Amino acid sequence: TAPATLPVNTPIQADIMANFDDILQRARLAFASGKTRNVSFRRKQLENLLRCYEEHENEIISALEADLRRPKQESMIVETEFMKNDIKHILYNLDEWVKPEKPDKSIVNLLDDVHIYKDPYGVVLVIGAWNYPLQLLLVPVAAAIAAGNCVILKPSEIAGNCAKFIAETLPKYLDNDCYPVVCAGPSETAQLLEQRFDYIFYTGSTRVGKIVHAAAAKYLTPTTLELGGKSPCYIDKSVELRTAVKRILWGKLINCGQTCIAPDYILCSKEIEQKFIVEVKEVLKEWYGDNIQSSPDLSRIINQTNFQRLLGLMKAGRIAVGGKYDASERFIEPTILVDVKANDPVMEEEIFGPILPIYTVENAYDAIKFINARENPLVMYIFTSENEVLDLFVNGTQSGGMCVNDTIMHYAVDTLPFGGVGMSGMGSYHGKYGFDTFTHKKSCLGKNLALLGEKMASARYPPYSDRKASL
Ligand code: NAD
Repeated sequence: TAPATLPVNTPIQADIMANFDDILQRARLAFASGKTRNVSFRRKQLENLLRCYEEHENEIISALEADLRRPKQESMIVETEFMKNDIKHILYNLDEWVKPEKPDKSIVNLLDDVHIYKDPYGVVLVIGAWNYPLQLLLVPVAAAIAAGNCVILKPSEIAGNCAKFIAETLPKYLDNDCYPVVCAGPSETAQLLEQRFDYIFYTGSTRVGKIVHAAAAKYLTPTTLELGGKSPCYIDKSVELRTAVKRILWGKLINCGQTCIAPDYILCSKEIEQKFIVEVKEVLKEWYGDNIQSSPDLSRIINQTNFQRLLGLMKAGRIAVGGKYDASERFIEPTILVDVKANDPVMEEEIFGPILPIYTVENAYDAIKFINARENPLVMYIFTSENEVLDLFVNGTQSGGMCVNDTIMHYAVDTLPFGGVGMSGMGSYHGKYGFDTFTHKKSCLGKNLALLGEKMASARYPPYSDRKASL
């Protein structure tokens, strides 16, 4: 059994905050020096980041265990292997991505050069969240490095052991002027946001996303907001339920439900609800044994605040599965709630824990009506074998993304953009989409001064006439 360690939050490094002007100034000078424009330099930094992961894999896994009691296998899938693959994908494609594009041109520009250059924005700020404390910070950071930016890294203070690892270890691998780490809590981050950045990439709650967006407006700073929300999961009668239950439970219970793309609640008929519950009980037993608390394979809730919040959410409806908890370990058993009402807090706020309410509906039309009466989710999960049902959701709902007959796995497809829409966020990243996020596409028309071209152009000069206008 893995030890149930409590996170030790990193104290805010006051000297770093006091020196923040200096840190920012050094990053600005580094960017102005042009060194991050050099693709070999970017490549070297990314290789160093990869090496950091290879040399410190065990430390990373231990930090995640200390903060979240995250099982090693989960940490490998969603943090270390994910990150290493992401960097390798960038390194493999970088030369292609940085090339200026030559878009199609019309006959009018036949003699001209038409180019799109890939400009970095400059100094960008990346703010991470605590639930996947390394990956959610470093995947965008790698994309920003690839695109030639300097980056200020702000890990979440709430996953204290991971923040400490990032602050102490990363500077040994990355250029310190170009990629400084700043440890800051909410009030210090609010101070940071008063500064001028060239791009802000924020991952976290919708509430704080609004604060970040408002701060960015002061300098019209472009912003990507990777936010949260309630991702619904509709199940219809055409699916093989055992497989569906396994895939839904895995997506719900990885990191103990503290995943922005966890299926938040189930929408299904009463008939499916009953069968679903039977299957859930069997799968949980198969995965975690009779005493779930003693299983090493379920993470813990990050802190007491979230633990208490989740206990409050469990008061809605009726507990059909689970319901046990232990504050001393911040353990909450995987819990299925039934008979919940649409206006119960568990159906109104993002759950972010191992609680899965089932809200019964008659059919797909009812489910869509329910979904569309709420904010746009980050993901829409649909379990069906019927294309007609799938089409109803594809064409009848809005969400950041969709995943059909599985959960979470769309996140790992690096050719798919990942991001929200409406209250679940704006902008996207992963793979080439991450590179594009941190790249200003600078268009350039290049003319020559030869006589033929000038003759063709002269129709635009005054004195204007009907004849010239008709050319
Ligand atoms: P959070 O908003 O509390 O914190 C995120 C970051 O914002 C931290 O670095 C924190 O220091 C900073 N912050 C907190 N309060 C601030 C303030 N007042 N001013 C400025 N900065 C502040 O979010 P969280 O609790 O760390 O993460 C949970 C939320 O994030 C959930 O809603 C989840 O769905 C969402 N999330 C989204 C994604 C995604 O990719 N879309 C990924 C993970 C988490």
